[in-house]
This record gives sequence, structure tokens and C-alpha cells, in this order.
Amino acid sequence: MWSSGDAVALRGFWAGELAWAFPHVVVHDTPELVALWLPPGARGLYPTSRDHSALAPAEREWRAGGTLRLTPPGAAHSVDLYWGETGEFLGWYVNLQDPLERGPIGFDTADHILDLWVHPDGSWEWKDEDELAAVEALGFFDEREVGAIRQEGERVVERMTAWAPPFCDGWEDWRPDPGWPVPALPEGWRDLPRAMSGV
Ligand code: MG
Repeated sequence: MWSSGDAVALRGFWAGELAWAFPHVVVHDTPELVALWLPPGARGLYPTSRDHSALAPAEREWRAGGTLRLTPPGAAHSVDLYWGETGEFLGWYVNLQDPLERGPIGFDTADHILDLWVHPDGSWEWKDEDELAAVEALGFFDEREVGAIRQEGERVVERMTAWAPPFCDGWEDWRPDPGWPVPALPEGWRDLPRAMSGV
């Protein structure tokens, strides 16, 4: 288990290749919740293309406002909180993904393309349904997998409409410890193979 304030890598794989990687600060690492903070200005790797046959990841800096990722171990999603440049809460981004895998420098996952946006007023919408259909057409996911991805999203919507954790927990008022430096990707982030054990 990591301690609060530790710098770890969160990496995303696609078709066996490293697709993105960003350093995060560990907020909580418990059997119930992995909470990771991605501060503005952190440098990492991110795809420059939305064509999943050629993602062409390149180095970039994370956006102003920062992102807090809340992931229940074993769940096929994370609930990511976004803030704007002046600290205003923008909403919850539900990222559907493989359950987190714990490795020597942090955590690994793989994106499921389909996402959800939950606005601060509780209204919500699917995001990237067209992109999921394109990826299915390319053969990256089959019909059963696409159905399971959508079902996971529907379960999160049920939790959100019931105002269950993490939505009811007040994380939108959370702020990072001002003493935390902007983390850098740990050594080995580019070459270590994908972790295969769950968290
Ligand atoms: Mg996604």
C-alpha cells in the first residue's frame, strides 16, 4: 500500500502498448478506495490522436485545475473530479476502464472508451459513444464486452442518482495539501511491463 503524499505513476495501456502515463500524488490507498491527485502542470504522456489504430502518444502537461481520481478497487471505472482554472468544480467524469492493477511504481489500467459526464447539478450524459462504436468496428472489443462496459456505466448512474459514495462524500470541496510538490513520473514508467495483479 502507498502512503498519502507518495508520487506514483498511473498508466493506461491499449492493445498491449503504453498509451498514456501521468504522475499522481497518492491521497488514499485503502481496500475501499484508491484516490489519486493529478495536479496541474504535471508532465506525462498522452495520445495525440483519437484513432485507436495509431494513438501516437506524446509528452504534455496536465490541464489547469487538476483532477482527482477515485477508484474503488476491483471496479471497472473511476470517478474523476475536475476543477477549472479558478478552482470552480466542473463535474464528475466517470471513466470506464479495467480495474486498477498494482505495480512497483503505481497503478495500471486500460481504457474502455465510453465515459459519462455528471454535471455539478446531477444531470448526466454519455460521452464518446461514437468512439466506442468505432473501436468495436475495428475489433478491439466484441459485442459482449461493449455490453458489459455499458452496464458498468449504468451501475454508476444508479449510484449517482441514489447519491451513494463517492458522489455524496463532498470530494468536490477537497483540496490538495499545498505542501505536495508537482510529482514526476517514477523511473521505469516507460519500460516496466503492465502490472497484472489487481489492487
Ligand atoms: Mg475513457
